[in-house]
Amino acid sequence: MNTLGIYISVPFCRSKCTYCNFASGVFPSSYMERYVERVCEDLRVAVSRFPGIPRMVDTVYLGGGTPSLLPPDLLKTLFGTIREHFLIVKGAEITIECAPGQVANEALDAMTESGVNRISFGVQSFIDQEAKATGRLHTRAIALEDIRRMRKAGIRHVNADLIAGLPHQTAASWHESLAVLVDSGVDHASIYMLEVDDDSRLGREVLNGGARYYAPAIPSDDAIADMYAGAVDMLTENGLKQYEISNFAHAGSESVHNMKYWLRHPYLGLGLDAHSMLRIENGAAIRFATTDDLQAYLTTTGWDDAHILTRQEELEEAWFLGLRVSCGISLQTMKSEFGREVAEPYMPIIQELIADGFLETNADQVSLTLRGRMLSNEVFARFLDVVETAQPATV
Ligand code: SF4
Repeated sequence: MNTLGIYISVPFCRSKCTYCNFASGVFPSSYMERYVERVCEDLRVAVSRFPGIPRMVDTVYLGGGTPSLLPPDLLKTLFGTIREHFLIVKGAEITIECAPGQVANEALDAMTESGVNRISFGVQSFIDQEAKATGRLHTRAIALEDIRRMRKAGIRHVNADLIAGLPHQTAASWHESLAVLVDSGVDHASIYMLEVDDDSRLGREVLNGGARYYAPAIPSDDAIADMYAGAVDMLTENGLKQYEISNFAHAGSESVHNMKYWLRHPYLGLGLDAHSMLRIENGAAIRFATTDDLQAYLTTTGWDDAHILTRQEELEEAWFLGLRVSCGISLQTMKSEFGREVAEPYMPIIQELIADGFLETNADQVSLTLRGRMLSNEVFARFLDVVETAQPATV
């Protein structure tokens, strides 16, 4: 069955986290109505704009930003418009990202009425001092109460995000955050190692000095790597199995939507700074995006021009994205999809990465080791060297 994932970015936040450089902000709530109308305009034209786009939708993901801040009527308008133009299949995974303490009862009612069955909470830390230092507005008690409320409201799947490497974090406080996460009973966890973006407030402080955002209290790279390794152990021991570099879940609770990104299955992105990947008639992948400027998004139309990926670009993506997933990549499948002569030049680098402890093999599968997951950017750069020297693939 050819199905589609729909991603909708909702860029409104109540405060801006110090490490964040997403296309989100504390925009006036008066923009919300116009924003949702713009997204709905794009939903209405998507089917005619992209002939062949699957009409059957098996995942919807509202990210951001903080989509739970949308008033209930606008949430319902969004879901109603999706259903007018696409068929959301029975059992589809429908996710909304929420900030703890920022889900009003009316918004929760609108979510459940709209079929939302998965909530992703940006907790980042269950230690109040750490959450506060990054500009988050919640406490541990608020986050736990919200997780309980979601369950009580009948939301089947709940994810909590944590970040390893926040200012003030220590090995002990990280362990405590993980223990609270496990005890909370969430069936999914996303664990990110802090990557300070130069354009965030914290990033500028790291570059230019200062202590307003606690840059000097960021743990060392080695300490952050130890925290990540500790999370892999602790979550695995507690039934949250790692299925991707940053993602852990109970069996059957893996995010169907996010798997589409790594397996290169089609998805349509709407809203600010939203990315899409669809397949055209001959099977080639096309990618396109929307602007990351809110004013421009509100006053212009739709997506930028689609880029048709060459076979070489698809091959690069297949390595980078496929290796993110814990089960890794089947070499035979790569050779069948792209041709033996195109995949062959990568074999020496795979052998080198195995020898260096970044990759491991199990029969035909190649996957990242723990060291490879911690240093994945380094691994992917080695593949890029091959891409640059490999013969171009036939389009
Ligand atoms: S809530 Fe999320 S999107 Fe909003 S500022 Fe914080 S990290 Fe960024």
